[in-house]
This record gives sequence, structure tokens and C-alpha cells, in this order.
Amino acid sequence: MRSRLSVRTRLTLWHAGVLTLIVCVFSAGILLFVRASLFAGIDRQLSRALTTIDWVYHHEPEEIGDLASESGIVLFRVIAGGKLLYQTEGWERVDLARALRDQGTMPSESWKAPDGRWYRVQAVADPSYSIAAAIDEGSRRDTLWTLMVILAAGTPFAGGLAIAGGYFLAGRVLSPVGAMADKARQITADSLGERLPVGNTQDEFGRLATVFNDTLSRLNDAFDRLRRFTADASHELRTPLTAIRSVGEIALQAPLDPGKYRDVIGSMLEEVDRLTRLVDSLLLLTRADSGAAQPVREVVELAALADNVAEHLRVLAEEKQQSLSVHAGARVEALCDPAILRLGLMNLLHNAIKYTPPGGAIDVRTKATASGQPSIEVQDTGPGIPAAHHKRIFERFYRADPGRARDSGGVGLGLAIALWAVASNNGRIELESEESKGSLFRIVLPGT
Ligand code: ADP
Repeated sequence: MRSRLSVRTRLTLWHAGVLTLIVCVFSAGILLFVRASLFAGIDRQLSRALTTIDWVYHHEPEEIGDLASESGIVLFRVIAGGKLLYQTEGWERVDLARALRDQGTMPSESWKAPDGRWYRVQAVADPSYSIAAAIDEGSRRDTLWTLMVILAAGTPFAGGLAIAGGYFLAGRVLSPVGAMADKARQITADSLGERLPVGNTQDEFGRLATVFNDTLSRLNDAFDRLRRFTADASHELRTPLTAIRSVGEIALQAPLDPGKYRDVIGSMLEEVDRLTRLVDSLLLLTRADSGAAQPVREVVELAALADNVAEHLRVLAEEKQQSLSVHAGARVEALCDPAILRLGLMNLLHNAIKYTPPGGAIDVRTKATASGQPSIEVQDTGPGIPAAHHKRIFERFYRADPGRARDSGGVGLGLAIALWAVASNNGRIELESEESKGSLFRIVLPGT
């Protein structure tokens, strides 16, 4: 059940409840202990009195009457041979004989007289005589009663203090949560750069704030990437649209002969083609981001897949008089989604053909890496990629050489798609390339 009370109130109540319980148990313990030690004291006093009376009875029986005045033993009685030998005046007045069951030995016992007063009574006896003595418990009982009143009055007082102290302490301990909540309330999509206050990084609230701030950083990065992606995508979409528009406008300025119109329509269609490819790529990446394109893994023979992709693109290589060959060594199999992997390889090979100058050579190799993982390599004799670009080359819309890439018709998403295709198959892409020394892209996949 969810409580409607605030954490501060609940902490205070728990604290006060536990503390009051401890005080109660402690008070009860003190009372029992003090009571036991008070009665043990009376019993020792009684035993001593009986010993004294016994001694006087045996050695100076005629002095027994002076015991009360000399030793302060005011309540006792002596019976000898079944007859009452002596009893003090106090014994007789209270009629303490009623506290004794018979004339035999009796351990210490408390007895309540008809007037409401309590006496502690003890007796020793042998066949010829019996001695009994008593002590008024009144003062001890008063002491116990006073102690009980003090403890009983102190317990609610301690409870009250515990509530006040607990409320104050809980307020102090929880104050960082309030500060964090206030700050978190102010953070919106536009101010994701702001952070929660972190008091002590070692305590629980500090760690919570740090974790929350890390989440904010990740959100901020994701938002930044999204903003950049949207800006880049808009820019990329605008370029062909502007081209179509200006080609159309120029064509409309003056009448042209039919051959020229064909040229205009041809270049417009080229731009439409580019737009279509761009939108297709954007759609594919958006579907990938949303997790809609889930890979269905199966055992794939890489050489067959590489052959298939190479045949598909061979016509492009032939157009540029490039040699395109697939080298398959021993049979290599990988566990992956063939359709998605094909897309990745297609983009790598398409890039190789696109960026390698006419007459160059492109080689596709399927083999196991040194650590035994299945891999596909795409190597070209193109311009290569300077090391400075290696880190960012797989980012969306990143181009090593913007002018050249746009001229060759690239939309800047080929490598991003290839990376997604390989990563979603639990693989990775390695790049070995230097400027003007060709490029080698290696897809490394999980084995079967
Ligand atoms: P694009 O559509 O521009 O080709 P990609 O994401 O496919 O976009 O590639 C990003 C950039 O990487 C390209 O603009 C190009 O500069 C560089 N690149 C990719 N593949 C090669 C390659 N085989 N040889 C040289 N440069 C390449």
C-alpha cells in the first residue's frame, strides 16, 4: 500500500516510534532491576534480624525484650515449646501472625495487612521453637512508585523530543532531494545542458544526482545528434530541389529546341533520382533507429553473398573500366541476417566503384581473420581516406571530400547504413586506408 505521508513525516514517525519503544523497554528493565535489588536488600536485613533474635534467644533470653529498642528489630515474635514466649508491640498491633501459615520455617514473602500496608515476613523454626520477623515495605514501595512515575512521565517527553529531533534531522537529510527536484523541474528540452546540484558525490543523493546528470548528458547528446541530422537532411534535400528549380527556371526563360528540353528533363530526372535515393536512405536509417528492422539471423556462406553483390554492381564497374573480382578461399560462414548484410556490403562496394578512378581495381575477399572470425574485405585502388577522417567517416552526412562526393552522386549516408547493417548483425567494420593508397574496408562478423 502506498502511503500518503511524506518521506520526511514517515522517517520522523519511524524514528520516534523506535526510540519510544527503546525507552519503554529500558524503563521496564530499570523498574524490574531496582525492585529486585530492593527486595533482595529487605530479605538480607530480615535474615540478619532472625540470626540476631536466634542468638539472643539462645544466649541471653532475658534480654529479648530489649532487642526492639537496641537493634531496631521492631516486628518479631518468638514461640517456644508451642507457647508464645515474646512478641513485639508492633507485631501484635498489626497481627502479623496471620501472615504465617503455621509455626514452621517460611522463606521471605510479602503480605498485605488489612490496613493496606505491605510487610515482608520470614520465619525459622525447629521442633522446639519458632522465630518470625517482619519489615515494613512501605518506604521501598514508595521509592519504586516514585521511580515509576518519573519513568512514565519521561517516556512521552522522550517521544516528543524524538519527533522534534527526527523531523529536524529528516528535513536536513532530505534537503538535497528538494533542491534536485526544483532544478529538475526547470530543465526542458531546450536546457538539457543544465545539471542537478551534486552535494557530496559519495553519498546516496550525490550518486543519484550524478546518475541523473549522466542521463541528461546522454539525452543532450542524442538531441544534438538529432538536431544535426535534421539540419543535414534538410540541407541535403534542398540541394537537388534547388538544382531542379534553377534548371527549370532557365529552361522557361527562352524557347528551346526539343533536344535541349530533353537535356533539361534528363538533368531534372537525375536530381529526382538523387532525391529518391536520399529519401530511401533516410527512411531506412529511421526504421533502423526505431528498431523496426530487426535482423533474422541464419548461417550465411559469405563467398556466395559477395558474388551476388559483385554481380549486381559489375555493370557500374564495367562502365568505368574497373576490374572487379571476388576471391574466396576456404568456405567461410557467418551467423547473420543475409538481407541486411547484403545492404551493408552493397554500400561498401558501391563506394569503392564510385570513388575509384576509371581503370582501377576492386577486390572483394572472403576469409577468416587471424582470430578465426569470418570477414569480407572490399579493397580498391582509389584515392584513399586520410587518417584524420577515419573516426568520423561513418557519421551520417560526413564526407571526407565534400565536393568530390557530391559530384559522384553520394548522399552521405552510405557508410552510416553499412555500419548499421554490420553492427545490427553483431559485427564491426575496420578501415585501413591512407591518402592516395586505396582503401580497405573489412566487415568482421560473429562465427556460427
Ligand atoms: P557518400 O554518399 O558521400 O559516398 P558515404 O557515407 O558512403 O557517403 O561515405 C562517406 C565519405 O567517405 C565519402 O564522402 C567519401 O569521402 C569517403 N569514402 C567512402 N568510401 C570511400 C572509398 N572507397 N574511397 C575513398 N573515399 C571513400
